[in-house]
Amino acid sequence: MTKIPLKSRVMQKNDEIAGAIREKLKAQRIFCLNMIGSPGSGKTSLLETLFKLFDRKGTCAVIEGDVKTDNDRQRIEKAGVQAVQIETDGACHLNAAQVDKMLTGLALDGVKYLFIENVGNLICPAAYDLGENKRMIVISVAEGEDKPLKYPSAFMRADMVVITKIDLAEYVDVDIETLKNNALSINPKLDLFLTSVKTNTGIDSLMIFLKDSYGRYE
Ligand code: MG
Ligand code: ZN
Repeated sequence: MTKIPLKSRVMQKNDEIAGAIREKLKAQRIFCLNMIGSPGSGKTSLLETLFKLFDRKGTCAVIEGDVKTDNDRQRIEKAGVQAVQIETDGACHLNAAQVDKMLTGLALDGVKYLFIENVGNLICPAAYDLGENKRMIVISVAEGEDKPLKYPSAFMRADMVVITKIDLAEYVDVDIETLKNNALSINPKLDLFLTSVKTNTGIDSLMIFLKDSYGRYE
């Protein structure tokens, strides 16, 4: 008898649900982004800043993932965008079943962009397809130039990388070019963005990219 590792069965089920989510969202013309990054990388701040550029906040919705608290859901709602919170109560990643359940709690009529802010972690979120159309790694310059080399699978499976807090680079002795090249050495296909929400740098380019991606998706 061949032993099937438990993990592969769990992952298979996850991938099935993720596929169903992707079809469901496609039918509603909703483009989904899965945001993965360490705690404190600036995922929520990036969303808050990005949402300032949307005239119609109703075109966006957010699923927040955290171990505890709904602080981030509250922040997103203050930014004028509907959000629901998944509190994993210990788990360090989101899975597709959790996302699927949360979809019913959102008013998806008129929504074009669904952002999933994953639990702050660069390890297991990389393994879980959530039904997204694009996977975004969010990494702050303060995390160091070699982060992509230390967590290659997250970068390998991503479509885009948003480097945040670039205004801090000079204070933390990080060379942004080296960080960028390290990410590209793991995955040359990555779309890269250099941003700072403090100085409002790079947010426009990210917005243009999202709109283009949606255009191609439709
Ligand atoms: Mg957050
Ligand atoms: Zn985990």
